[in-house]
Amino acid sequence: MAMLSTSQLSAAAPPPLFSGLRRSSTTQSFFFQSVNSHIRFSSASARPSSSIIAMAGTGKFFVGGNWKCNGTKDAIKQLVSDLNSATLEPDVDVVVGPPFVYIDQVKSSLTDRIEIAAQNSWIGKGGAFTGEISAEQLKDIGCKWVILGHSERRHVIGEDDQFIGKKAAYALGQNLGVIACIGELLEDREAGKTFEVCFKQLKAYADAVPSWDNIVIAYEPVWAIGTGKVASPEQAQEVHVAVRDWLAKNVSPEVASKTRIIYGGSVNAGNSAELAKKEDIDGFLVGGASLKGSDFATIINSVTAKKVAA
Ligand code: PEP
Repeated sequence: MAMLSTSQLSAAAPPPLFSGLRRSSTTQSFFFQSVNSHIRFSSASARPSSSIIAMAGTGKFFVGGNWKCNGTKDAIKQLVSDLNSATLEPDVDVVVGPPFVYIDQVKSSLTDRIEIAAQNSWIGKGGAFTGEISAEQLKDIGCKWVILGHSERRHVIGEDDQFIGKKAAYALGQNLGVIACIGELLEDREAGKTFEVCFKQLKAYADAVPSWDNIVIAYEPVWAIGTGKVASPEQAQEVHVAVRDWLAKNVSPEVASKTRIIYGGSVNAGNSAELAKKEDIDGFLVGGASLKGSDFATIINSVTAKKVAA
């Protein structure tokens, strides 16, 4: 499927009606009437500059920090201390994903304001699976979330869509929330296959999971992860709205509305506010910048950019 141009995205729209951060139900129903097209109009062009910025979804802003395979006991002690003393906006769900071996240290020292995610989990019940960690063990140690389908698991380790879908279903069955990553390679984008790849990855989750209640979708274009090459707000919004439309058509309008769709890929303290203003961007998954407490706090607090337009 071809990518949409910026001019298509910013075509005129009916004037939005706002209620706090959210669209009113009238505007919401306009959205669902228009999801049959993959072009949903941005309300930005019709919005007076002093308006409140809407969120297309109804979920709370969500920011996750993926620490990947980084840190030492001392470095993590410092990061936890910085996070504990940071001032965080209240309207945000905040999660960090330490390496497995430091989860216990983080759990016992980090403020309860921030929940803990694992960066992977085994496909089923534990047992003779050397090197794996089960969802039951993650629950036991205090994790609330697990990151699955990350591009490094897909493209470095070689996990495929079905394997990831099964992991998601099992983790959800153990009452873990799942941060379900999707995203295209640079070659996919250049071949005009961004939507095709993302929808295929989404379908594998949809085919496997019993419910979307506890899933946050992280759209992470692979070419933007760890490269310093962030997607533009328009590029990210274009895929987020397509993902929401896909959910509306293939799962349900309710799931499309309530499922958070967060963006990941070189988000930092300097670019998060502009990205956050886009109405289908419900938060972020952050790698490198989550290793610095003050930068991560700035990214979390970029929720304020959603509330008041510049
Ligand atoms: C990630 O690994 O999920 C990620 C988004 O990394 P970075 O922010 O470093 O690009």
